[in-house]
Amino acid sequence: MTGNEGVIRPHGGRLVNRVTQKNPTGTFSITISEDLANDVENIADGIFSPLEGFLGQQDFESVVSRGRLSNDIAWTVPIVLDVDKETATKAKQAGTVALKTAENGEFAMLHVEETYTFEKQKTAQAVYGTIDTNHPGVTKTFSMNDYLIGGKIDYMQRPKDDPIRKYRMTPAQTRKAFSDAGWKTIVAFQTRNPPHVAHEMLQKESLTTHDGVFVNPLIGKKKSGDFVDEVILESYLAMIENYYPQNRCKLATLHTEMRYAGPKEAIHHAIMRQNYGCTHIIIGRDHAGVGKYYSPFAAQEIFSGYSDLEIEPIFFPAFYYCKKCLAFTNERACPHSPEFHEQISGTKLRTLIDEGNSPSEFIMRPEVVKVIMDHKKPFVE
Ligand SMILES: [Zn+2]
Repeated sequence: MTGNEGVIRPHGGRLVNRVTQKNPTGTFSITISEDLANDVENIADGIFSPLEGFLGQQDFESVVSRGRLSNDIAWTVPIVLDVDKETATKAKQAGTVALKTAENGEFAMLHVEETYTFEKQKTAQAVYGTIDTNHPGVTKTFSMNDYLIGGKIDYMQRPKDDPIRKYRMTPAQTRKAFSDAGWKTIVAFQTRNPPHVAHEMLQKESLTTHDGVFVNPLIGKKKSGDFVDEVILESYLAMIENYYPQNRCKLATLHTEMRYAGPKEAIHHAIMRQNYGCTHIIIGRDHAGVGKYYSPFAAQEIFSGYSDLEIEPIFFPAFYYCKKCLAFTNERACPHSPEFHEQISGTKLRTLIDEGNSPSEFIMRPEVVKVIMDHKKPFVE
């Protein structure tokens, strides 16, 4: 007995830990964005296991061309540090460089292994499936610096806690929490929106046959019109407090930006949740999509090419309340036409809220609506 029976292995077999007590050293430092700093922390904590740093050229090209690292381990979203030519040259010469943010100073070291250039068009096409600059991921790729730096990181200094960050957990912490709760099957729920009742029902449907739900809202840069992070977090807390049984649901925030890479991001989302210790992940229609760039089922279909992933996807159609069925149901179980369904689009919901009106209780819990209404600016501008 190892005591680990039933515990899912981290992706690649080992939980990465690049957190160190050492002080930052070196003469050269690079200032990076808060989003990138979040990802450095994610690498350090093993959320991105097996990555130990920013991708080198061989791994980068392998991820772009076939959605796998050069050693064949599944990886679909490039985790890279882009810099201009002068910085790349200086970093190469320095060998080890400090990473800092404008706000928090030096917080990590990067051991430079190589610097290289990359093809932006090819990268965008491979990751996002398009080179249309109306796609936020494509625009971001095209606006990147021309050089990438590959190398392992060491993480020294976390940012100060704030009301959202205090909900951040490391995979070591979530794995312990799941084990302490006695959960063996854990279903991850990715979200970037306040919960609709339909989402709650979908999660509870999976609770019927699994031990626990891990609600894991994505905190970080989003596009204009999306809900702000505080609203997403607080609305979930309100839902869990009022509508979940004790000890069947845990919430932690995941601090990484949405990439809107659809199917490729669905795989990335699954890998992160496996590292947290989840055995299953709910993948819905148009998971991590934006606009009309991906077919509604692309994020589900891509998993057939990744049968080596140990976390299992659970595919759910969209839930809604049906006035004929008198239940929250979905198109697989309900024969009735849309006029009997209580459903609302994101745009309509936003208009309703902007005008100070509440959606029906079959759409959204009053406690959740209150969180949104009480917030001065619930949407990203
Ligand atoms: Zn029905």
